[in-house]
Amino acid sequence: MKTLKIAIQKSGRLNEKSVELLKNCGLSFENYKSSLISPVSNFPLEILFLRDDDIPEYVQDGIADLGIVGENVIQETEVKVSYLQKLGFGKCSLKVAITNNSDIEQLSDLNGKSIATTYPVILGKFLQKNSIDADIRTISGSVEISPGLGLADAICDLVSTGGTLKSNGLKAFADVMSSEAVLIGRKGSENDILIQELIQRIQSVLRAKE
Ligand code: ATP
Ligand code: ZN
Repeated sequence: MKTLKIAIQKSGRLNEKSVELLKNCGLSFENYKSSLISPVSNFPLEILFLRDDDIPEYVQDGIADLGIVGENVIQETEVKVSYLQKLGFGKCSLKVAITNNSDIEQLSDLNGKSIATTYPVILGKFLQKNSIDADIRTISGSVEISPGLGLADAICDLVSTGGTLKSNGLKAFADVMSSEAVLIGRKGSENDILIQELIQRIQSVLRAKE
């Protein structure tokens, strides 16, 4: 019998909830320690522990059959995958934020400004849709400190409680997208019987939580 592979985040905000969900589905396996792959002893499935950024491409390319990842990462990597199930955790919003003393008052005030982000693709589409000509500064992390350092006039970053914005003298200004963790599969994978079985188990776990 063939063995499916599901890619989940190795460590970070989605790891614990992803592991918990799969365990609640009755799957028996060890959480990530040092090995990248963990076999499930009671279902033909292997868990791959990866950086979240790599998950959409692994699924698109068929290295993993399934993945659990934030919608934000899927949109940013522009892969072609099937959305199989929203999972109800990892909820956050991608927002443009400005400094508390900023002179930016409406969206059009972003014209000519610089915006630091780790999400240049999503931000680029948002600016285009709103006919804004701003300078996107792509950086790899700690976006929230860039206005304070004089690197950018605004930022575009993930926000959940807003605590990080506040402690950096920033305030949310515009919503770009909202996101949560989703189960993705390769295009067409929804027809696979084993995948259908897993989706059904996930749906009953989610229903029991309601
Ligand atoms: P990795 O090492 O796997 O690349 P990471 O640092 O890119 O991890 P995390 O910070 O662990 O990623 O976030 C993983 C996902 O959790 C995000 O892509 C997003 O979908 C979700 N998330 C939920 N709330 C937040 C938040 N407040 N800030 C950032 N991400 C959040
Ligand atoms: Zn990441």
